[in-house]
Amino acid sequence: MRPCAICSRAARGFYYTHQLRADRYPTYAFCSTRCLNVGAAIAKRNRGMIDKTEMEMRAIKDARRFLAEVLTELGLMAPFHDRSAEEIDRVIEACVDGFQASMQRQSLNDDIPF
Ligand SMILES: [Zn+2]
Repeated sequence: MRPCAICSRAARGFYYTHQLRADRYPTYAFCSTRCLNVGAAIAKRNRGMIDKTEMEMRAIKDARRFLAEVLTELGLMAPFHDRSAEEIDRVIEACVDGFQASMQRQSLNDDIPF
């Protein structure tokens, strides 16, 4: 099993190859039709390639608000108040990296129940 090209959850048999030309373009695997549609739209704009870097940066930025909500709820906002956006992003990235690494490891071991 490989990870979904968009969200890194375990891919489940959804594939996309630009123009169906596997000799010219990479084939990407996805977890769902939703991620497949997102991936296909990106590939069409991007010469058949899915480059997640920009999306990941945007997603981490978008996650700041959710982190702030939880920190506020738990009364933990004060220690984070004077931290830079980069430091906040490191916290988010650490969680995301750990999550993705575990998902990839588990899907490589085929431990994911279907
Ligand atoms: Zn996905």
